[in-house]
Amino acid sequence: MLFRFLTWLLAQALGAGLGWLVWGAPQGLWWGSLLGLWAAWLVDATRGAKFLRWLKTNDLQQAPSLSGFWGDLTERSRRWVRALDQQVSNSEGRLQDFLAAIQASPNGVVLLDPEGRIEWCNQTAATHFSFDEARDHRQLIGNLLRDPAFLKYYNARDFSHDVVVSARRRGLGARQTSISVQLHLYGDSQMLMLSRDITALQQAEAMRRDFVANVSHEIRTPLTVLSGFIETLQNLPLEKQERAHYLRLMGQQANRMQSVVSDLLTLSRLEGSPLPSSTEWIPVASLLAHCEQEAKSLSEVITSPQGRPHVLTVDTSMAAQCDIAGSSTELQSAFSNLVNNAVRYTPGGGQIEVMWRVLPDGHAEFEVKDSGPGIAPEHLPRLTERFYRVDRSRSRETGGTGLGLAIVKHVLQRHDAQLDIQSTLGVGSRFTIRLPAARIRQA
Ligand code: ADP
Repeated sequence: MLFRFLTWLLAQALGAGLGWLVWGAPQGLWWGSLLGLWAAWLVDATRGAKFLRWLKTNDLQQAPSLSGFWGDLTERSRRWVRALDQQVSNSEGRLQDFLAAIQASPNGVVLLDPEGRIEWCNQTAATHFSFDEARDHRQLIGNLLRDPAFLKYYNARDFSHDVVVSARRRGLGARQTSISVQLHLYGDSQMLMLSRDITALQQAEAMRRDFVANVSHEIRTPLTVLSGFIETLQNLPLEKQERAHYLRLMGQQANRMQSVVSDLLTLSRLEGSPLPSSTEWIPVASLLAHCEQEAKSLSEVITSPQGRPHVLTVDTSMAAQCDIAGSSTELQSAFSNLVNNAVRYTPGGGQIEVMWRVLPDGHAEFEVKDSGPGIAPEHLPRLTERFYRVDRSRSRETGGTGLGLAIVKHVLQRHDAQLDIQSTLGVGSRFTIRLPAARIRQA
């Protein structure tokens, strides 16, 4: 600043000197100093105008090369603007990081202004409520989310709890979903809306309720029968033969309960135990021999004394020297379950064929085909559900628990295998287990 003052003073002095030489004293001195000042101001104003022009361009690179006061001002402004730029880009980067983190959230996030207009939403929220980010920006949330439960919640302004709304998901795999929504106030009456898809949770809860109801029902029925018989035995003077008859019936009910509990324990063991080894090799021939023996005994029990036994054929031609990697008890239980079902549901005299084959690509199939009553197509997808039965009375008569195919499905999942069921009413059924090549070894 001092330099600037001295420059102006020098210009004035030079002007005064020049005036004195040209016009002489005292007017020359006076006019000369005024002209000197004007000249200094003109130069200064030109440089100031250059500086202002540069500020208007908004381009740091085009800074004019000035010296002195204006040069200093240009340099300082340049540094200041650059620091501000850096700050803005840092904040922008941090904002983008935050937005990316919120985008990655499995929960839906919607920012609403005090009037309830959508300011921003992440992709999860857009999917939950089928929002279109561009079209629905600044739209009132109450106009887009028309579920009465939500509108009541929103208007009541009590956001201390969540509300469950049902939404229809659009596009591929459109389906009805249940979304839990909660609003939180923040800032200047703005609102943060969080959403969570609880469809799977509700389904799991419904399944758990069904399961408990089914188990209770399965245990309660034989328990009721048992307590009825106990009362009869306690209160009525019965003949020896009658007592024996009642005791036999009680034994049947106790066995039924035992079977249900044992199958439930098997299922829970399958769910809780580590995956079966892929290095323990079980000979297929021994699995098939065990199945055959069991099926013959079961057939005898079911069809005797007056019925004709089943015609059972077991094709073991490809089983010799063939092994499966996995758990022997689990695989035996899956194979036996299918063969025993065929025996239990096929009337006496019917045909049951059991076959083992290894296909050219290395994977193997265990197939059980029967000439039984067959199963209607609508039941097929549900057969492996726990306690799902098509023929309830036949299942109970033959000691079924409704858990056999659920156990088979679990065992197969643990061995990377699949179950295929084909059936035609009145013709028969074919249950096929497909094992992957990695679990098959042939000598
Ligand atoms: P269950 O203990 O009742 O046999 P499963 O889970 O083994 O239970 O089978 C489920 C249902 O599938 C059975 O109740 C039966 O109605 C039907 N089912 C299974 N195997 C056969 C078959 N080979 N032929 C006809 N129906 C079958």
